[in-house]
Amino acid sequence: MERTLSIIKPDGVAKGLTGEVIRRFESDNIKIAAIKMIHMTKVQAQGFYDVHKERPFFDSLTDFMSSGPAVVMVLEAENVIAKNRELMGATNYKEAAEGTIRKDFATDIEKNVVHGSDSPETAASEISYFFNQLEIISL
Ligand code: GDP
Repeated sequence: MERTLSIIKPDGVAKGLTGEVIRRFESDNIKIAAIKMIHMTKVQAQGFYDVHKERPFFDSLTDFMSSGPAVVMVLEAENVIAKNRELMGATNYKEAAEGTIRKDFATDIEKNVVHGSDSPETAASEISYFFNQLEIISL
């Protein structure tokens, strides 16, 4: 079993897509091991996206991520990191495959509805950024 961090970003929550995103995960046999709603501060969003701090879009991205509530989840399944990235679709919704979350709902390269960890190392550090061990259910 593998775990990954998923975020329904502020645009996804604002558009009422929380249920639809979770439905897609559960339909694909992905289990939710932890879930909560948060409203990140700018500093918390900067900490989360620290790897992107030199990128030109860092300020705009961290403004967006701290602009409203988001839902953070620990997902669990076999091969869930790749599985979740597949369900999400490409970063740029214009390049995302048909039937993916970003293709169906994103409106902008930045406001792309969901986040998902991209490797076992980032999954471990991103999960521990938002959740302590007691908050993650052993399924
Ligand atoms: P992800 O792993 O698919 O989320 O993509 P990245 O790690 O490359 O980028 C992180 C997030 O930054 C993306 O999900 C977007 O919200 C945002 N982002 C990426 N590229 C751009 C860009 O060129 N412009 C802007 N404004 N935001 C971007």
